[in-house]
Amino acid sequence: MDSTPTSLLDLLSNNIILGTTAPYLPVAGILALSATCKDLRSLILTTPDAFRHVDLSFKQSAIIDPSPIDSGGISWRAERMDEALTEDDFYAGPLRGIFSTLQKQHALVNIKTLILDGLTVPADVVREIIAEDRFNVKILSIREAKQLNERKLQQVLRYAVRPTRPEGTPKLRALYVFGPRDAPLRAAPEPKASGWSSLRAGVMSSEGAQIGAEWNQRSSAALSSSLAQPDDKWYRTSGRVLRQPTSDWPGTLQDCQGIIAFDAVLCRGPKHDVTKTRSEDYLKPAIATVALGPKGCECCGSCPEGAAIFGKSDDTCFPLLTPPPLHASTVRAAQFPTPLSTHSDGMSTIPPLILRCEDCLRGRWCERCNKWWCEACYEEPISRDHLRTEMQQLELREDLQRHGWDYIEGEKRGRPVKVYSKLCIESCLVSEMWPIVDGMWG
Ligand SMILES: [Zn+2]
Ligand SMILES: [Zn+2]
Ligand SMILES: [Zn+2]
Repeated sequence: MDSTPTSLLDLLSNNIILGTTAPYLPVAGILALSATCKDLRSLILTTPDAFRHVDLSFKQSAIIDPSPIDSGGISWRAERMDEALTEDDFYAGPLRGIFSTLQKQHALVNIKTLILDGLTVPADVVREIIAEDRFNVKILSIREAKQLNERKLQQVLRYAVRPTRPEGTPKLRALYVFGPRDAPLRAAPEPKASGWSSLRAGVMSSEGAQIGAEWNQRSSAALSSSLAQPDDKWYRTSGRVLRQPTSDWPGTLQDCQGIIAFDAVLCRGPKHDVTKTRSEDYLKPAIATVALGPKGCECCGSCPEGAAIFGKSDDTCFPLLTPPPLHASTVRAAQFPTPLSTHSDGMSTIPPLILRCEDCLRGRWCERCNKWWCEACYEEPISRDHLRTEMQQLELREDLQRHGWDYIEGEKRGRPVKVYSKLCIESCLVSEMWPIVDGMWG
């Protein structure tokens, strides 16, 4: 019997094993490994999947903190700024350096998913990733990126999807930019002895052990995080899941629809549709920031625009989910939700998706319990400006004392009020108000 133990080369020669393992490893580690022997090098460089998913978000060297001022009071940045250098060029420096190292190793062209969360990523760098031939990135993540001018980024995106763009462009299909970055894969800081500096200097044989230690550390952290289910907060009754993006984003998302998918979608509420609403009720395009859950409106159990059903509804209804997928670089993999329940026959269902912007939901959504009433079932009896001031809040309390809940229920107006002061009347407002009212009686 052959007692020779399986070598690392044998193991990684299986394309599936290398392709599946690589996303868990630091790219510097893979490059360092490829520098240890000729066979490994040719194997790694001829397996495109080895660099398909590259996560640089842990690279401290690609983060520039613009603030430090030294003891002499001289700005760290000013000292390093060449007069000929633009601000964006300065901040783009570290990432451009990394990209050029990867290009020299013939790895850059194989990257299809690139994670740059939390790094210093000026809009110019995003433009290069989208527009330059040396990149083939399909999924890009720049969540919580630093020195990223949003307006400039929007221009870059709008230009990339312009109607006169060359056929087959842009290669980028998915952009994570709105949500918070994923929890870091590693607890310990990046080991000093390995990484880019050692790559440039040439890898010493004694570093093998360090590379191995780093692999172990990173892969175990990555494995435990990848075993967790994707975060399907959009599919649950989560309420507000996203901070309101700046006002230019809805137009950019509209332009990119069907070309580049985002980790957020436009609200599909009927009031954004000129053909379905009165002109005085029309709301301009907005990004959906509230996840209402699969249950739908309290009255009809659905919504006028119809819940989005994954696999049936248009792709543009679905936000990219986090974390970005490790083993595929497609929009479908990035949007694929976790099935909600598995039936006895082995079939599983994906919950229907109902997302709205806050403008649509004003006066019809309880922010505490997330019950809501749709446009078809409920028309707000009270004007939207009602109850804004403290005086009006005080009046409400007095009304409560004098007339009881029937008054608030809207008997005078002929229609019962469902949501008052961002809380539903039937359960949340009562529990919020009773202690105050009790106090007043006492
Ligand atoms: Zn309804
Ligand atoms: Zn809306
Ligand atoms: Zn409520």
